[in-house]
Amino acid sequence: MKKFLLAILIISIAGASVFWFYQTRIIELVINDQLIELDDPVIIEDEIIFVPAQPVFETLGAYTRWDPGGEVFSGILGEFEINLPAGSQKVIVDGEILAWDAPIKLVDDTIYAPVESAAEALGVFVKWDADNRELTISTPGEFDPEVGDNLDGPLLHVAYPPEYQLNYYSDSLFVFGTIQSYSQVDVKVNGEPVDLLNRKTGNFLTMLDIPRGEEFTVKVEASDGINTSTIERTVLYPEGIGLMAEEPLAIHSSHLIPRARQVLTTGETLRIVARGSPGATAYYQIGQGNFVPMTELEYPGGPPGRGGIYTAVYTVSPNDAPAAGISDTMPVTVMLEKDGQQVSRELPGQVAFFSELPYNVVEVKDSSELNYSGWFRIIRDNNYQIYSSTRGGTGYSDDVASYLTAGTRFETVGSSGNYYRVKLEENETYLLHKDAVRELSDKTTLEPTLSGIELLETNDKVILYLNADERFPFLVDSGTDHLRVKIFGIDKDNTLEIPEITSSVRELNLKPLEGEPKAQVLAVKIEQPMTGFTPSWENTTLKIELDKPPRIDRENPLNGKTIVIDPGHGGKDSGAPGPGDLHEKDVVLSMSLYLEELLLEAGAEVIMTRTEDVDVDLYNRPEAQFINETDFFISVHANAHGHGADAVNTHGIMTLYNYDHNEKLAEIMLAKVTEIMDLPKLYTWKRNIAVTRYTQFPCVLVEAGYMMHPEDNWYILHPEGQKKFARAMKEGIEKYFLSYLE
Ligand code: ZN
Repeated sequence: MKKFLLAILIISIAGASVFWFYQTRIIELVINDQLIELDDPVIIEDEIIFVPAQPVFETLGAYTRWDPGGEVFSGILGEFEINLPAGSQKVIVDGEILAWDAPIKLVDDTIYAPVESAAEALGVFVKWDADNRELTISTPGEFDPEVGDNLDGPLLHVAYPPEYQLNYYSDSLFVFGTIQSYSQVDVKVNGEPVDLLNRKTGNFLTMLDIPRGEEFTVKVEASDGINTSTIERTVLYPEGIGLMAEEPLAIHSSHLIPRARQVLTTGETLRIVARGSPGATAYYQIGQGNFVPMTELEYPGGPPGRGGIYTAVYTVSPNDAPAAGISDTMPVTVMLEKDGQQVSRELPGQVAFFSELPYNVVEVKDSSELNYSGWFRIIRDNNYQIYSSTRGGTGYSDDVASYLTAGTRFETVGSSGNYYRVKLEENETYLLHKDAVRELSDKTTLEPTLSGIELLETNDKVILYLNADERFPFLVDSGTDHLRVKIFGIDKDNTLEIPEITSSVRELNLKPLEGEPKAQVLAVKIEQPMTGFTPSWENTTLKIELDKPPRIDRENPLNGKTIVIDPGHGGKDSGAPGPGDLHEKDVVLSMSLYLEELLLEAGAEVIMTRTEDVDVDLYNRPEAQFINETDFFISVHANAHGHGADAVNTHGIMTLYNYDHNEKLAEIMLAKVTEIMDLPKLYTWKRNIAVTRYTQFPCVLVEAGYMMHPEDNWYILHPEGQKKFARAMKEGIEKYFLSYLE
């Protein structure tokens, strides 16, 4: 334990003549919500605020010391020392020489420090309220985690990796933990000093290369020079996900495709995948048919050990199906052969074939009956993801294509487990969850005719009506100023005319979809930015409402706006882990509550999806409650590094959106939050996740830095940092609303 000399300072006489600075009224100094009595006033010179160093440092919990010979003032917080030589702009902070923006002043025996520089050095936040002449300083929240580990030396907590972390996808591991804040404790991971250490919070982060195929010990040591605390974690990076032993010849029980029953018609394809011992010859067989060769997948550029994945595509021929109805359900068998050995396995998904189309006509249930299955998926067949939710049929993994609109009808071309397969375009297959639709037993086919298009405009909407004699399948995609509605399987009435455009509409046209005999695209462009859209059915007419932006008051853009704030996670769902007991759900709630305060002050109406630590169902948020009157939706999150991520070099701000009409919003928000927080700008990410799936209003998800990055979490964990994030998000919303006026 170091010993410190206590400073003996000659405090200046009250009312000392500090004639050279500008002062109209006394400046009040508040530290951690307490008004501080000062013998010497806070002063301002050339717009730089100076505080008397001794009382401020001591109120913040630091020891102070004064060396009269060298005229050096020192503040010591924990083992963190700051030396301030009178008259000099060069100071020493934690052993490092820094040039501050103003010199240290000695006024009538009182040492003054420029507050902004001193605050940064000490790791505290400072706020200057010029109107009320109030200077606020606040210290970090509690950064030091509760530690349960039995330690011989200084405080040490390792938040990542957990014991026995497995990783397949990368060869590196990040190690994140915490030591005592403001300490001089050395941290080493497997003998090497760590890459990043924020001594003010005690958070550290470093990267390690991990050899494959053996248990590896990660040893974290924290030493104060006398005692050392050690925490060990074991990690295992297996040789590779696909690699099984060549001997004995075997087929693995997982990663077998199809996984669920497939019902297919002539011309459709069935992908067959099995994982087993590498280097064998593989075959598949459907029912009692012939054995057909499979290929072992080459996976160039992938992680090591991807061998042993065998794949084939079967195209259903006219002979497969009976003349009427559906064939028996048949097993699919895979066989491996090597050096005279043979092994075979039946795949979990079986197949049946049928000849007449459609397989079923189905109608999307009422929205009240829809939940997670209320959107449909497009099968991607160019993305090999053995672990993703592969549904068989032609494709591997799948993506959400669009929301389903209640009442929409589809002809199905088969099924895949719990999904109907729908073919809207020649080369695109979609999956529709069986829970989302009801079968129309009295209908055998859809033959809609488009008979008319109407256009109507109100103050806040442009409305399109597509009149037909029955409900047809459609897909909508949106941009900032346009909407494209693709309608499928439809005939066009010869007398159909495109209506006259209205004042906000720049363009309206209907064209055949290229390469598709029975599909049309209706495109509409509007003058203003489009802020949302809602499709719905009125009998056999498809009504699509395009939202025009609300009126914005340039001076006060948030006034009267209804804004939903969604603090991510909550309750059982903690979100990303942090350094100690603080989790993402806690910090994003604080940020959201600060944001609520700022928005209310600016005259907005605010709806919170939660205000305390409770579970919120992502899929059944109280939509109906706010869907009609909402102008903006913001979901607040903090990020987590994936296993094996380059965590030291990956940090900063990211924003997520879903529909293209919200891309600009995501960009504005990203730029604003990055600018105010002065953290790296990552990117906007188009992602279909539950909270960005609202079509009806501007909607963005902000990832406010990384929980486990020592630079980011300084702001994330600190109440003042959280307030700064809130202010950045508020300004982002404001800037977005103002963009309507451009
Ligand atoms: Zn989150």
